[in-house]
Amino acid sequence: MPVSGLGAYDPDNVFARILRGEIPSRTVLDTEHALAFHDIAPHAPHHVLVIPKGAYVSWADFAARATDAEIAGFVRAVGQVAQQLGLEEAGYRLLSNMGAHAGQEVPHFHVHLFGGRPLGPMLT
Ligand code: IMP
Repeated sequence: MPVSGLGAYDPDNVFARILRGEIPSRTVLDTEHALAFHDIAPHAPHHVLVIPKGAYVSWADFAARATDAEIAGFVRAVGQVAQQLGLEEAGYRLLSNMGAHAGQEVPHFHVHLFGGRPLGPMLT
């Protein structure tokens, strides 16, 4: 039973196609467990999407089914992206939309990383 309300994993979602190299992306980092690439419609000077390489629809699905190695690899990749972009000192924001109420558009788990300018207060 899917845990996120998003249904079963769709192997033809846009991020699955990026992982297979069927759609071009601007890669920031490529590791065993994660791929990071620039968002096609950036909301900040740095707007990077970090995705696990496994087939997980959402944060909830990833948390429930991913192995400890996948979770550790993914979390470390997010940190590496921030370091690589030189954002650690100034800071950055991480965000993950989970399901309908959050407006998740792409049903492959991803974390947005925003940085490069003061980001203002959190939106609700
Ligand atoms: P969500 O609303 O959290 O699911 O965010 C999906 C994000 O994916 C949006 O910020 C889109 O701009 C981004 N996006 C959609 N298609 C592509 C693509 O082909 N390359 C890079 N980013 C994409």
